[in-house]
Amino acid sequence: MLPPLPPGTPLEVVYGPRTGKNVALTVHGSGDPKLATALLEIAEQRGAGLTVMVVGSWLDQQPQMARRILDGGHELGNHTQNHQNISAMSPDQARAEIAQCAERLQRLTGSIGRWFRPSAAQYATPMVREQAKAVGYEHVLSFDVDPRDYSDPSAAELQRRVLTSAKGGSVVALHMGHQCTVDALPGILDGLAKAGLKPVTASRLFTPA
Ligand SMILES: [Zn+2]
Repeated sequence: MLPPLPPGTPLEVVYGPRTGKNVALTVHGSGDPKLATALLEIAEQRGAGLTVMVVGSWLDQQPQMARRILDGGHELGNHTQNHQNISAMSPDQARAEIAQCAERLQRLTGSIGRWFRPSAAQYATPMVREQAKAVGYEHVLSFDVDPRDYSDPSAAELQRRVLTSAKGGSVVALHMGHQCTVDALPGILDGLAKAGLKPVTASRLFTPA
């Protein structure tokens, strides 16, 4: 069971406590499972917990990845079933997108996970927040650092973008399925360590041990 979040945690979380030295690396979960596994392994070798915001249709193709992610000490969240522009949907469509991914998480891991993140949007609209809540997600996980790894910059550039922006409490948005992210992660983890920052899961960011 996940420990409860502190009282007063906002419905939509953008970053964690700025007074601490923890950061959360969150990862859009879809794409080539070889690249996904490579990213997990790098994080695991260095004791970093990731938070994988998983796309339900990807779990349909790669159901083994759900347990693989949790067994590596990472956290899993819901990033919709089909990764469409959820803000533009009707409330019923948006609810179905969230509920279908939640069903897969429940079936494969026994839990729907704590966090929901909207697809194709940094922030959830009030409608999307309401639908997420109806499915069982009390909190939406946004982010404050977006290094745009999905546009495939060089590993050095990606490292620079993360390391110049991340500070205590930051929630960084990364993506599986991109070689540049795999190539950049060792340097990102080295740079964070040098800055005294510790990458933890999103739940751990808000409930430090
Ligand atoms: Zn995404």
